[in-house]
Amino acid sequence: MTDVWEVYAINYAQRQGRTRADSFLFDDHSSSAHQMEYYIWVLKQGTDVILVDTGYDHEEAKKRGRPIRLSPVEALAPLSIHPEQVKSIICTHLHYDHAGGLHLFPNATVHLQQAEMTYATGPCMCHQVLRMPYSNNHIHSAIDKLYSDKLVFHTGDSTVTSGVSVHLVGGHSRGLQVVRVFTDSGWLVLASDASHYYENYLENKLFPIVVDAEDMLAGFSRIRNLCTHATLIVPGHDPLVLDYFPETYASFVRRLDKGVVDSCPLQ
Ligand SMILES: [Zn+2]
Ligand SMILES: [Zn+2]
Repeated sequence: MTDVWEVYAINYAQRQGRTRADSFLFDDHSSSAHQMEYYIWVLKQGTDVILVDTGYDHEEAKKRGRPIRLSPVEALAPLSIHPEQVKSIICTHLHYDHAGGLHLFPNATVHLQQAEMTYATGPCMCHQVLRMPYSNNHIHSAIDKLYSDKLVFHTGDSTVTSGVSVHLVGGHSRGLQVVRVFTDSGWLVLASDASHYYENYLENKLFPIVVDAEDMLAGFSRIRNLCTHATLIVPGHDPLVLDYFPETYASFVRRLDKGVVDSCPLQ
């Protein structure tokens, strides 16, 4: 029997001063304001905890001029999760806002697509524009994990444990993977940056940070096919996640596996 998991989204940062041009290529209202939210996701089953991405710390926030509300450790406190107890991290991709806390979880094994490590350490990184979403020290942290037997490479579709699998999508970065997790409500998909907003996949709109447009578009269909119902697709950066899913533990934590609130229009 497939294991059933609880799933949480923790909203650790917010960025304003963006426009729709920063979220959608070829948009009709490109100069309108468009806010972005940042999340860490947690899969829980009894005392077992799997983090999906880690956010980033105050040092990175200062360096990029992108403040955070909560450091990765602070973000996990409401769920009583201590960094030492985290044994597994699924890293959807190595961008700074997803892999910026790998160094804070000394006992965690990291699950990463092989294609992401190849991309983030290969010749493409000679181009500043492609390197921009990555941070040197985060890549070093991933390599530290590799050299201490705490990195598992996945290629394509792969099972992490019962009820949890990863699926290579690419598009936004070469090795971007989404996470499929079995819950009381069915198969839920943490899309991460395969769809930053609901609008990206619902309207087939490309996000401007894209290394392969065709893969990004194929990814939109992929995430639909992986979930049991559209309400179980969770975009990576959408403020609407905070409206659609019920609050639990703290004002910045949402429970994702028990279904959406009654007012959610996706039902
Ligand atoms: Zn990204
Ligand atoms: Zn992101």
